[in-house]
Amino acid sequence: MSVNIAIDGPAGAGKSTIAKKIAGKLGYIYVDTGAMYRAMALFLLREKIMPSETEKINEKCLEADISIGYENGEQIVYLNGENVNGLIRTEEVGNMASASSPNPNVRKKLVELQQKLAADKDVVMDGRDIGTCVLPGAQVKVYLTADSRVRAKRRCQELEERGVACSLDEIEKDIIERDHQDMTREISPLKQAEDAVLIDSSYMTIEEAADAVIALLNR
Ligand code: C5P
Repeated sequence: MSVNIAIDGPAGAGKSTIAKKIAGKLGYIYVDTGAMYRAMALFLLREKIMPSETEKINEKCLEADISIGYENGEQIVYLNGENVNGLIRTEEVGNMASASSPNPNVRKKLVELQQKLAADKDVVMDGRDIGTCVLPGAQVKVYLTADSRVRAKRRCQELEERGVACSLDEIEKDIIERDHQDMTREISPLKQAEDAVLIDSSYMTIEEAADAVIALLNR
């Protein structure tokens, strides 16, 4: 039977960095589900659809073919066959991902893809609904969070490293807004699964947080 580690939590809590670290240490595959929602958002933006046009999102999303591959251990997201990794990390795409992810057709399509990936492989999967909906039987479930100011600082640092100027206040406002949207939506809202362990990474190093998760697996 494959081993599944589910990591959920709000934007910027360090999920992907920590999940990648765990996957590297254990030799598991890292599955970044946010990247799938971002690829879908990119598709919708290219179709000139606005975040508020829910009916259009519901119809158009069926035309997007999203798939995952791995190159040198890195996850590649393909949108209709195109590698879109370099195009999905903008605030515009993140905000569209948050606005379109409550859509039932979007979720159905991407959850199926995620479940297929985890069915026969050892994975560390991160997202918002992994422990609650996608992999309810995961052997380890973690709800990873951090103070919103700390999360905003991390996002800003990431952007600055890529040469993108940013305002800390703006980013924090965006993060709080996105969390609110993700936590209050009707379908698969972001929440801690009953059997998930809460880890607050505000003052932890990546290594410490990764080891805390691995310790849960070895319990
Ligand atoms: O994690 P990331 O910031 O890349 O996710 C972008 C958006 O995708 C989130 O704000 C959320 O709305 C959506 N998402 C989701 N379910 C997941 C992963 C991401 O709804 N499992």
